[in-house]
Amino acid sequence: MSESFSNQDMKLIRASDFEALNGPVSTFTGRVHLTGLFTAPAPSKTGVGIVNFDVGARSHWHTHPVGQILVVTRGVGWHQCEGGPKHEIREGDIIWCHCGRRHWHGATDKTSMQHIAITESENGSVVEWMEAVTDEQYLQTPVSP
Ligand code: MN
Repeated sequence: MSESFSNQDMKLIRASDFEALNGPVSTFTGRVHLTGLFTAPAPSKTGVGIVNFDVGARSHWHTHPVGQILVVTRGVGWHQCEGGPKHEIREGDIIWCHCGRRHWHGATDKTSMQHIAITESENGSVVEWMEAVTDEQYLQTPVSP
């Protein structure tokens, strides 16, 4: 089996070398598994992670100081910015969350969803976590796909 590799030119981290971490209950509702967590060395400020949401699982409300790109890689989920409609998001979709906007993302109540999250840091911070998304907020009707 190929091993992870690192020299002065590059770093290759094999999927098998990432631990699957449980999303903490302080920031997620339901079963969430995180893997592929990697932060590029300075001067880059970019970090990435692969996030797996089981059916019914979602993030808490949160903001990103300099925004976030999501790439849906499997399944169907929901994404909502506060005060706006809840959107269905599907494999291959890209979502940009503007700086400082309160939002949440996760699976639907009937399907799991996996996305890649690409986030830049500001003063070492990539996210500010807030309160849980209530069932009433979570289950509101999405806009038509
Ligand atoms: Mn986010």
